Amino acid sequence: MSISILLVEDDRPIADNVILALARDNMACRHVTLVAEALALLRQGGFDLAILDVGLPDGNGFDLCRALRGFSDIPVIFLTARADEIDRVVGLEIGADDYVLKPFSPRELAARVRTILRRARVAAPDTPATPAAAPAFIDIDAERARVLCLGQPLDLSRTEYLMLKAMAARPEKVFSRAELMDAAGLAEASLERSVDTHIKGLRAKLTVLAPRHDPIRTHRGLGYSLAREP
Ligand code: CA
Repeated sequence: MSISILLVEDDRPIADNVILALARDNMACRHVTLVAEALALLRQGGFDLAILDVGLPDGNGFDLCRALRGFSDIPVIFLTARADEIDRVVGLEIGADDYVLKPFSPRELAARVRTILRRARVAAPDTPATPAAAPAFIDIDAERARVLCLGQPLDLSRTEYLMLKAMAARPEKVFSRAELMDAAGLAEASLERSVDTHIKGLRAKLTVLAPRHDPIRTHRGLGYSLAREP
């Protein structure tokens, strides 16, 4: 079975190296330099994975990835030159699968592509097994760092995601603010009150998708818990 990769990169030498490394690994690569071209091709389908540069002549890779997620689940790897972009890239909000920091070894990139495709294949057979089940109230896809609420994607900040993930792993457990700060990797110096702010944001986002539910319970003086069934 042949593997088809879409590469969106406007730096010609980088693109050439990636195409070569993928070809050596028997992967076919279609290369474009524009967001618009990429979207048109991705809509046609047929790609197993997309490799996206962040800064592109007619837009950026983040918006491209967001648009792609509206119609496709194919894995996405970002090429980024800036370490400070990584938080966005690993993409709580963006839905990417991996990133490679420039400059990178094209051979290493090809190896990552292989790994991600293997992972995607392993995960795939589960999908048809549960066709008719109603969407879960909260469904956490830790692999992709994405959360679905009643089947709809929730656009969470990193902190909100990590707090919700911790609470969803142990429904009904009352989490103290300190525990939630820990779960979200907040520094000890942060005020416990900042947990309240993040929880408030999380609640507001859940309310948009599920107005009649309020699954996060406040335990006065103790902390918060997530209801098993809202
Ligand atoms: Ca670029």
